[in-house]
Amino acid sequence: MSAVFVTTPEIGTRLWINDQRYELVSVAPYVRKTDGVATFLLEWEGRCCTDGCGAPFRTSSTMTVTRLKRRCDEHKDQRSPASRKKRVAKVRVELA
Ligand SMILES: [Zn+2]
Repeated sequence: MSAVFVTTPEIGTRLWINDQRYELVSVAPYVRKTDGVATFLLEWEGRCCTDGCGAPFRTSSTMTVTRLKRRCDEHKDQRSPASRKKRVAKVRVELA
């Protein structure tokens, strides 16, 4: 499952992937390298999902969001059992 933005979402748009929440912090014009199409790069702020951490981190996506980083730089190498199983993520968007 993925969220596809047809027009650029407003800053502050919230997105959930399963139970993890992200908030849109910036939108930047971007030219796709594969075919030269002008599109946008979305920058999201999330909180590290490692127990007891919760540090904010930023990650970016294209206009189609399928999966995002889930942990801060300190914990990025950890893997949860859930991600190894490749279960389908539930994606939900709340426009600002
Ligand atoms: Zn962390």
